[in-house]
Amino acid sequence: MQVVILGSGSPLPDPERAGPSTLVRTSAGDVLVDCGRGVLMRAAAAGTSAGALRAVLLTHLHSDHLTDLNDVLTTRWVTSFAPSPLAVVGPPGTAGVVRAVESMLAPDVEYRLAHHDDLTWRPPSDVTEVDDGPVLEDGAVRITAARTDHAPVRHSLAYRVDDGESAVVIAGDTRPCAALDALCAGADVLVHTAVRRDLIEGIGLPRLNDVLDYHSSVPDVAATAARCGVATLVLTHLVPAPAPGTEGEWHEQAAAGFEGAVLVASDLLVVEVTRRAAAVRSPGPGRHAS
Ligand SMILES: [Zn+2]
Repeated sequence: MQVVILGSGSPLPDPERAGPSTLVRTSAGDVLVDCGRGVLMRAAAAGTSAGALRAVLLTHLHSDHLTDLNDVLTTRWVTSFAPSPLAVVGPPGTAGVVRAVESMLAPDVEYRLAHHDDLTWRPPSDVTEVDDGPVLEDGAVRITAARTDHAPVRHSLAYRVDDGESAVVIAGDTRPCAALDALCAGADVLVHTAVRRDLIEGIGLPRLNDVLDYHSSVPDVAATAARCGVATLVLTHLVPAPAPGTEGEWHEQAAAGFEGAVLVASDLLVVEVTRRAAAVRSPGPGRHAS
């Protein structure tokens, strides 16, 4: 199994970092977790496409995590030669969001149906709402969701992907919580959103300060990884985006509380997930491994 960080950025546009999204390449196909800004550009760089996705898993319905879902739906539709429903899994409310995205696309859909004789169906989707529990099972692959704590966001999910002997957990935005700890038990790699409390407090903007109370700081994330005994921790969805050359500070803060390997994600970081270990195949400029 392989994890590719497609977008490691914050909600603010950044020339080097796409919005949050992570590709998990399993023996049952490619699974995309979240659809942040620029996801399909990064997917193309990683060698996959909207048409190749087995499923899209949404951690929650904040805009920065799904802003390019419309691109995934449209691109899959116009590049398919037979109806190929996009499987979308997400928390309660996901079906309404997908319906609204489809409604936004209505003029485009009508134009293309009128123009292409061989395109006779609308963009198909197959939405499953989950709050926790099993999501997908296929051969050696098992995907499980757990409800995490991103209040006042009512529903936020982390996903665990087991493929044979190895397991990765993709945490969305969350405070440290028992449900995430339980999901991580025995996993090899934890991919986790991380915010820098020291930098955000230093900026001193009230609206930015608000992000602190419903996310995990870097020491929080390290403590979760240490409690759960994962082998490798990947910090992603970095808020605020690190100034180039300062990724080492993030690494240092995490390594102070976690003895395993720490990777500070840059876009297109590839992590090979193996039992109790992880190897980095294509280090990006922001990568720091202990
Ligand atoms: Zn969020």
